[in-house]
Amino acid sequence: MKYVLVTGGVVSGLGKGVTASSIGVVLKACGLRVTSIKIDPYLNTDAGTMSPCEHGEVFVLDDGGEVDLDLGNYERFLDIKLTRDNNITTGKIYQTVIDKERKGDYLGKTVQVVPHITDAIQEWIERVAKVPVDGGEGPADVCVIELGGTIGSTILVRHNNNGILDAGDIESMPFIEALGQFSYSVGPGNFCLVHVSLVPVLNVVGEQKTKPTQHSVRGLRGLGLTPNILACRSSSALDENVMEKLSRFCHVSADNIITLYDVTNIWHIPLLLKEQKAHESILKVLNLQSTARYLNLDGWTARAKLCDTLRDPVRIAMVGKYTGLSDSYLSVLKALLHASVACYKKLVVDWIPASDLEDSTKEESPDSYEAAWSLLKGADGVLVPGGFGDRGVQGKILAAKYARENNIPFLGICLGMQIAVIEYARSMMNLEDANSTEFDPDAKNPCVIFMPEGSKTHMGATMRLGARRTHFQVKDCKSAKLYGGVKYVDERHRHRYEVNPDMVSKLENAGLSFVGKDESGNRMEILELPGHPYYVGVQFHPEFKSRPGKPSPLFFGFIKASCGQLDAWLQNNLTTVASKSPVPRNIKPKPYENGNAKIRIKNGSYYANGNSVHA
Ligand code: GLN
Repeated sequence: MKYVLVTGGVVSGLGKGVTASSIGVVLKACGLRVTSIKIDPYLNTDAGTMSPCEHGEVFVLDDGGEVDLDLGNYERFLDIKLTRDNNITTGKIYQTVIDKERKGDYLGKTVQVVPHITDAIQEWIERVAKVPVDGGEGPADVCVIELGGTIGSTILVRHNNNGILDAGDIESMPFIEALGQFSYSVGPGNFCLVHVSLVPVLNVVGEQKTKPTQHSVRGLRGLGLTPNILACRSSSALDENVMEKLSRFCHVSADNIITLYDVTNIWHIPLLLKEQKAHESILKVLNLQSTARYLNLDGWTARAKLCDTLRDPVRIAMVGKYTGLSDSYLSVLKALLHASVACYKKLVVDWIPASDLEDSTKEESPDSYEAAWSLLKGADGVLVPGGFGDRGVQGKILAAKYARENNIPFLGICLGMQIAVIEYARSMMNLEDANSTEFDPDAKNPCVIFMPEGSKTHMGATMRLGARRTHFQVKDCKSAKLYGGVKYVDERHRHRYEVNPDMVSKLENAGLSFVGKDESGNRMEILELPGHPYYVGVQFHPEFKSRPGKPSPLFFGFIKASCGQLDAWLQNNLTTVASKSPVPRNIKPKPYENGNAKIRIKNGSYYANGNSVHA
């Protein structure tokens, strides 16, 4: 097993995760099998309890692992399926060591950070790196490890002499020590360290500044880690003399200094790495030159260019709670993007804070109310994503009602599906007090109820998590057709509440159709509203399995419907495609209208900015 460790210096938010995923992409494109591990030095055991407002979305894996959103990047970029153990946190490591200590495994020894915690980290990495994640047999060739947080800044702070240690630096220490030992034990030729750093430009002089990178590399070395490759983030390509300077002061050969300047969309990052032969540098460090084949990135090149040339917009209203940080819905945004690109449309997402649609906002802040409704009314499609808690629920209900009554394509995910059911019961069945027991435990007409899989008493273990099967009940419904006429699909779940089985027949008699259910027939998985252009609610989260070039079928259908093309598309495709998913699997760029086929690199914020819609 060969290891590529990706660390970050100077500041966070540099796009280290995207860089690490892109390194995986170029290595995979050289014919190597790649897996990945993300290390998050925080104490939480997993991301399940962390606020999406602070940390971005909680990504869910097939095995039910609730993990950092960077694992989503790896899954999407490398088209792999990771396990919960591919996300290491301080909490998990300490828990393992403490459990071992309680069992008496340390035989009377004093248990310490070094060597017990550091050993546990190394053992974890070695064990998990061997687990196949690409559907193939046996371990991958290369494991890309991303260490969260920044390193080297401790030194910077000490130089400042203000004596403040950054909290992140303290948390990272055991991992840095463990990785230093690990690089030594796996030996040269098996370990490549890529340090992602920032080269800022001072506006006044317009000069690219190397000092922060120098400091961070010095800090890294001081901690026992030697970078083989420097990946420098900057707004524009690094000047030749800046590269030379970095090479001289950081002791990294000029060939191994990669300039990662801002690009129009993140699918360009693997291309940037290829252009600068970063793969060759990595393969050389890892002694893999003879094993690797000629690098082929045709699919990525086509998609990255296509994405830049799309002009015709499709406007999607996202009616959610955490609209302040778009990373809270990162996978939903990605899935929308994958689907829009597959439909040759430029995705425009209009964020609507759900509570702004409510009557109370009309009185308190009429401008916000007007703005929210005008965005909703201008949308080609309405999406209500997953969520917890009752803030904004009424606004989401109003959005679902608007989409239903006005024949606007609607996709409700998890809470979004539950909202659609509540809205339908209230509007179409005269059950004005219909509700979810999540919001009203004493609801007289509980159309959504607590349906845990595990314990009914311990909240911590009641979530229905990970891949579960949905069996189609109706053969010619839209969702079954979009999935390619298969009998069942496995999608990922993360919820406690579900449609009340006792109310299903009443809801169906009133016109809603539950076209997908679990194997027991008790859990409603997919709803459709017959006769509507696209009114689909899903108890699962299809966004987690969407990939660039392989959009999630339900997102694809949603975007097609939002462009007014779904029915025609379904007819065309179902007559020509016998079974299997008819959703395009390999999207080729259309001819460019303006001959603008070259990769256009301009100063965009797509790469590093978590708030932008990137691939
Ligand atoms: N809060 C709802 C539940 O627990 C929906 C969860 C979600 O949207 N992920 O069932």
